[in-house]
Formats: sequence, C-alpha cells, structure tokens
Amino acid sequence: MTSVDLLHRKRRSTRLVEVRGVAIGGRSPIVVQSMTNTDTADVDATVAQVLALARAGSELVRVTVNTAEAASAVPVIRRELDRAGVGVPLVGDFHFNGHKLLAEFPECAATLDKYRINPGNVGRGSRRDEQFAQLIETACRLGKPVRIGVNWGSLDQEVLARFMDENAKRPAPEPVEVVMRAALVASALESAALAEQLGLAGNRIILSCKVSGVQDLVAVYRDLATRCDYPLHLGLTEAGMGSKGIVASTAAMGILLQEGIGDTIRVSLTPEPGGDRTQEVVVAQEILQTMGLRAFTPMVTACPGCGRTTSTYFQELASRIQAYLRENMPLWRTRYPGVEHLHVAVMGCVVNGPGESKLADIGISLPGSGERPVAPVYVDGAKTVTLKGDRIAEEFQALVFEYVQRRYGPGDARKAG
Ligand code: SF4
Repeated sequence: MTSVDLLHRKRRSTRLVEVRGVAIGGRSPIVVQSMTNTDTADVDATVAQVLALARAGSELVRVTVNTAEAASAVPVIRRELDRAGVGVPLVGDFHFNGHKLLAEFPECAATLDKYRINPGNVGRGSRRDEQFAQLIETACRLGKPVRIGVNWGSLDQEVLARFMDENAKRPAPEPVEVVMRAALVASALESAALAEQLGLAGNRIILSCKVSGVQDLVAVYRDLATRCDYPLHLGLTEAGMGSKGIVASTAAMGILLQEGIGDTIRVSLTPEPGGDRTQEVVVAQEILQTMGLRAFTPMVTACPGCGRTTSTYFQELASRIQAYLRENMPLWRTRYPGVEHLHVAVMGCVVNGPGESKLADIGISLPGSGERPVAPVYVDGAKTVTLKGDRIAEEFQALVFEYVQRRYGPGDARKAG
C-alpha cells in the first residue's frame, strides 16, 4: 500500500468487508468496480469483457445473473478467468428471481464472490420477505458478502407508500423529492437490519442508494453515511453518455469522496455504440487519482494549447505519452513498483512549459509558434537535454522509459511507496 493510498480521510464506514481478498471499507483504499454489459450466458463475450475490465484496473466486476443460462455460465466464466490468471472477484447482480437461481444453481451461488440484491426487486407483498430471507440465508450459508443496492428507479413501493402516507399527515408536508430520498435511505437501512436479523454478519454487508441526479446523490449519501457504518458503494446510476456522464459522476462523487463518504465506486457510463466498456474504469481511477486518494497510472500534465501552438504536434505527443504509459502499466506495475506515482508534463510553449516541466518528475516543453524549434527536457526539476528534429516524440518516450527504469527499477532508494 502506498502513502497516497493511506491518505487519511474522514471515513465514516468503519466496518471492513472482504470480497475474495479485496478489502472494502475501514481504512482500505477505495475500490474501483465495474459491470459487464454482455449477455452472461455468452461465456466467450463475458470472459473477454471481464478480462478487459480487470486488466484496465477494475478490482471487482459485476455480471447480470438473470436466467438459468446465465447462472449456469458463471462457474464456466470463473474457470476461464482463473485459466487466464485473472482472479478478479465476480459479483452476481440479481433481480426478481435471485432467490430461485441461487437455490437451483448451487455452483453459481458458490462461485460468485458477492451478491448484489435490490430490495425493490426481490418480490412483491408477502413473497418479498420470504424471498429476501432465502437470498440472505444462501449468503449466510456460503459466507458471501451482499450489497444491498437500492435504486431510485426501482425503489421498494411499500416503503415509498409508507413514507408518502406519513408525510401527507404532517402539518407541513415535505416536498416529494425529500420524501423519496428518505424512503431510499430507509429501504437500504431496513433491509440491512433485516439481513442482520436473519444472521448475515454486519461485516458482510455493503450498502448503496443510487440515484441519477447529482444533488440527490449527495443528499442521500450524506444521510446514509451519518446513519450507518456499513461500507458504501458510491455511484450515480444511469449517469449518461460521454462527457455528461463523466461530469455528472465526477461532480457527485467528488463532493462525497472529499467528505470521506464512499468505499467503492462505479462510474455508470452509457457506452457509445461499439464503445469501449473499460472507459468507466479509467474514469473511476482518474477521479480517485486526481483527488489524490489513490494512484493507478502515471499522470500526464498537459496544457490546453492556445494561439501559441499552431500545430497539433504537442497534442499528439501528450496523447502518445498517455497511451504509452497506460499500455505499459500491466507490466510496469509489477516490474517497477511505485511507477503509478510518476508525473510527466507535456507542455506547448515557453510560457508555462519550463515551470510545469520542472514540477513534474520528467517534462518536456515543446516549441510554440515563433519559438526556436527545440524542446528542453527537465528531469527532477533540472534541464538535462534539449531535443530537436523529427524524432522528438520517440526520443522523449525513450527518456521516460529510462527514467522509469532508473527510478522504479530494483535497487533505487527513492522508490515511491
Ligand atoms: S503553455 Fe503555452 S501553449 Fe500551452 S496554453 Fe500556456 S501559453 Fe498556450
């Protein structure tokens, strides 16, 4: 664990839940998780996506378990992942028929490392408690942690109706959204209390209360965090596509994480058609890393460019270096411990270039328009070499690798961590 991982935050969840060796809660680093969007019954597609998500850095991967075929596929998927040397915990996402699937497919129940159940989708009327109890009993028997994941879009209607009735009787009723937020939190807490009554240990419970609005998420999680010490799974549900999904998730989670709320996060982005599912993992890591809460991949500081950069050269170099660092991380992580703390700067001209480059571990200041066509390189705050000609990109990349080997390779006393 690194010093950044240990950055002290005002953490409210003191309980620690272990999911196949991954610690969630307490003082553990905040865990990044993701979810597949393949048909779980399609073993090849699901294995490929879990591998991609895990290799991108997802520390838990959730899969939908909605049919007999999906439940039968889970043990096969696990075996394939193990064969590929990827031990990422698999979480089963259950709605409506989870009690049945877990009972009828014991190998699936035993294989999954955690169950996610939604109290609003466990069953209706008298069947609800019975089916909830069946799910919890399976978790107790097999020693599995459970996330009780309440969702705005599928809030338990009985809880909501109760809160609405109580509110209507008040002399000054609260606005509907306030009542809904309270009902969400109550649904999570009441379900957790019921799970504990049924025998599930408190250190096997994680809670979430997902909504799709930033202010709603902040209000709900602040409330939840003051009323329990279960680890909290944080995320904006249905965050949306592209920059809107990223901005909304970052705005909401940034506020809460800064307040010490949240033990595991997921960024629920809607991928573009044919888009890369691993983007949600990269965004989650970048939220944590830019906030100084964890480090995953060397960070590249690049200026936005302006009228002084009339070519796209420096943008191409920044993008090339970023891709180079990310591509190499799976190998570097084990070979060069601490390399995730590396800070690289790629700057567009002399205005801020030398200053930012000196602050980075290694930085380059490219020539802006009208400047001499040379690119000074700074290492640990001092100018070491000036690059020129057509191969600046290749030469700078080689210098970055040399720096990584020297600083994070075996025998260097300055290694981060
Ligand atoms: S460093 Fe230079 S190129 Fe980059 S934004 Fe500042 S002035 Fe523009």
